[in-house]
Amino acid sequence: MTVMPSRFETPFAETRGDRLDAISAHLFRPMGADGVYARTGLYEDMVDALGRLITRQRDPRAEVFRFPPVMTRAMLQKSGYLNSFPNLLGCVSCLHGTEREIRTLVDEHGPSGEWADALKSSDLILTPASCYPVYPIAAARGVVPETGYLFDVACDCFRREPSRDIDRLQSFRMREYVCVADPARIQSFREHWIERAKGLADRLALPYVVEVASDPFFGRAGQMMAASQKMQELKFELLIPVLSEDKPTACMSFNYHQDHFGKTWDLRDAAGEPSHTGCVAFGMDRLAVALFATHGVDVANWPVGVREALGV
Ligand code: 5GP
Ligand code: ZN
Repeated sequence: MTVMPSRFETPFAETRGDRLDAISAHLFRPMGADGVYARTGLYEDMVDALGRLITRQRDPRAEVFRFPPVMTRAMLQKSGYLNSFPNLLGCVSCLHGTEREIRTLVDEHGPSGEWADALKSSDLILTPASCYPVYPIAAARGVVPETGYLFDVACDCFRREPSRDIDRLQSFRMREYVCVADPARIQSFREHWIERAKGLADRLALPYVVEVASDPFFGRAGQMMAASQKMQELKFELLIPVLSEDKPTACMSFNYHQDHFGKTWDLRDAAGEPSHTGCVAFGMDRLAVALFATHGVDVANWPVGVREALGV
């Protein structure tokens, strides 16, 4: 047997199998669908503590927005989501019609469940990443100032990826710092955040690596998009071994969109050049799960430095 050298500097506690099941029993309760769980007080307190820790890292210039879990279908379509991840999208569908039509349908087909066949899509979708709604808000202001914009955004996100693994939820919380500016500012925003995120992971005593990554673009054409994204180093991820060292979990991502959103939403500087954008995304649920998987469910026994960082 060959022993592979570890990618992680901090020794990785064995968290697979039974131990992980025991942990998730303290954090979640089933709600009848894989990746959709009720969360315990122990777990939510940690998500809140992480949120406060991230807030303390916020640039004072950042503007705060908290979005609902839905946004318009038109807005997401314009963002180009359908080209990239049509398989992950969830739409809000409703029963349309008069009171009488809806009543008849529910009475006749309610018990069998066939009423669902009459659902028609509405103008809303379930937001798949928390930064999508912010670009049109910025664009509505007109010319982007020379110093650019910084935003602090968050929302509940949905991605249709049912899984029994506790690090893959269909409904999860995402927090992001977003920068809209010229290419040089976006690059330094991203570099700054990669270093800052490593510092946070150190303070939380989480084993991690930061690696070039790609998004799970859909289909055969998607594989080419992913390869090009990797080659251009447009996405980095901070990976933590939650389930295994071989397949560590992306708990934060550092993204450079070039001028994609600038052109899409007509975000331009005074000279008419399209703005560039970047974001750092914190997977709040994955970070909380990573903390419990690494340090156990007895928070009182966590390393003192970790508890101090989190204020717990
Ligand atoms: P990205 O847009 O880079 O795919 O996602 C941003 C962050 O959201 C990820 O780094 C991760 O922390 C979180 N995230 C993405 N997909 C999932 C998921 O299926 N479950 C959970 N819990 N978090 C996710
Ligand atoms: Zn983003």
